[in-house]
Amino acid sequence: MKYLYENNNNREVRINDDLVIGGNRKVVMAGPCTVSSYSELLATALRLKEMGVDVLRGGVFKPRKSPYDYQGLGEEGLEYLIEVRKIVGIPIVVELTDISYLDMYIDNVDIIQVGAKNMFNYELLKRLGKTNKPILLKRSMSATYEEWLLAAEYILKEGNTNVILCERGIRTFETSTRYTLDLQAIPYIHKFSNLPIIVDPSHAAGNRYMIEDMSRAAIAAGSDGLIIEAELNPDSAICDRNQTIDLDTLDRIVNYSKGNN
Ligand code: PEP
Ligand code: MN
Repeated sequence: MKYLYENNNNREVRINDDLVIGGNRKVVMAGPCTVSSYSELLATALRLKEMGVDVLRGGVFKPRKSPYDYQGLGEEGLEYLIEVRKIVGIPIVVELTDISYLDMYIDNVDIIQVGAKNMFNYELLKRLGKTNKPILLKRSMSATYEEWLLAAEYILKEGNTNVILCERGIRTFETSTRYTLDLQAIPYIHKFSNLPIIVDPSHAAGNRYMIEDMSRAAIAAGSDGLIIEAELNPDSAICDRNQTIDLDTLDRIVNYSKGNN
């Protein structure tokens, strides 16, 4: 059987008139793990835009390990992102954790993220397949390449060809880092599928000091882009502080990714 992910006609996923993922240009998405305040978000986004970041990320419904951990600002956070998108003129990528929020997202969010914890949520994938929204499908920390591509197939089969894959680290026996970044996923996905793939070094590493090196490695290995947790004041990040980088570091990564270095 020939799968749709093998011959999907949309290796290049268009986000808007100016932005394509999977083309010649490397794409950089960045922003806070979790939206905390409107003013912080706006200040970060203005700098990101200035340095050439293509997409602003920000979590609002957060799938946290513990139910006692901060769960995000929810709809209020989404409103901040929508307002900042309008002011700054930057597309946004936001994780959707439950299909009941789809109406909130559909006309406002440029890229819908399916997080690692929801990669196996087939009903969610089928529903997103009925939209024509770009979907950023993160690899589960325990998914094989085949399981991940078949998750993409659930979206493609319903008619949505706008699927972007994201490698974000897998669980191995190593406990010194949060997960282990599997860069072999890049040549594998490019060889056996016709989908773009970007890399999230932030959740894989869990540590700031690794992000710049792993970003360069991902770009060198042929990644179509990066998604990175970065803030103007990383020490005040409300979630995933240890892996959130400052904007000077991000600027170097953007320059490297765009071939300016
Ligand atoms: C995120 O990107 O905010 C996130 C929760 O990542 P993951 O789904 O990869 O854990
Ligand atoms: Mn995070």
